[in-house]
Amino acid sequence: MKTYRNNLNHFFSLVEALEKLPSIGKKSAQRMAYTLSIENKNLALQISHCIENAIDHVSKCSICGGVSESEICEICLDENRHNGQICMVLHPRDIFTIEEIGDFKGIYQVISELEMFDFITLKKQIQKFQIKEIIFAFSPTLANDSIMLFIEHNLQDCDLIFTKIAQGVPTGIGLENIDQLSLARAFSSRIKL
Ligand SMILES: [Zn+2]
Repeated sequence: MKTYRNNLNHFFSLVEALEKLPSIGKKSAQRMAYTLSIENKNLALQISHCIENAIDHVSKCSICGGVSESEICEICLDENRHNGQICMVLHPRDIFTIEEIGDFKGIYQVISELEMFDFITLKKQIQKFQIKEIIFAFSPTLANDSIMLFIEHNLQDCDLIFTKIAQGVPTGIGLENIDQLSLARAFSSRIKL
């Protein structure tokens, strides 16, 4: 087996690279590597082209931290979305989930690396965009509750209402795994902190 494997360097390099992707285990990585290198080489080329383009053109919005293909994302640039609400999320992909529901009309802020989070810039945005309400769209865990308290504490000198999305969001589950109806309900019946 060892010699057989040793002569498949390129194949197993691909397997090992794919295994590094989130939620891809060894078996899935092997299946994908087989499809890409043997069954569907055209798909493989298409994917490699998409990956190259994504690396070159996709980054984070310099204001909200969401996924963007320009320095500032479409949501931050859209004046109609400056309605006095900021929705705080823990990951840029949560913005996709909430945008799919389509009910939220404000702007977003991604809270990543809380220790290094720039509250001074956020406070400037809050002033500039006349923000009145901070909505925390976090799934309910003890760790997330303490993040909310930490943010609230750091923004206590701003004149803000803090709310969080309501019940119906199961404990310990990422936003992306919640069905749209539950998340829409959780948004519309949010609770004041
Ligand atoms: Zn943005």
